[in-house]
Amino acid sequence: MLKNYMEILVDEVYNEVKDQYDVCKYDDCINDIKATALNNLPPVYFSSCISEGEKKAFLLNRQMKITVLAKITEAVQLVSQRCKS
Ligand SMILES: [Zn+2]
Repeated sequence: MLKNYMEILVDEVYNEVKDQYDVCKYDDCINDIKATALNNLPPVYFSSCISEGEKKAFLLNRQMKITVLAKITEAVQLVSQRCKS
């Protein structure tokens, strides 16, 4: 099955920083944050010949994490403006 590794990275980075954000903890808002961030990031799919090590390297890439964090920060701002709670 194909996996979008950007989705995995967004999940990981969000989990690392979620406590720093003052957004509500409803699943809807968390999903909105991740969806908004993902719409602003390119999807990343690996072909079957890519090694686990290379996939792991993508998830640990510092520059990529910084890019993802910037998109999550933007998404948090957008979603918290919309949130009614
Ligand atoms: Zn909310």
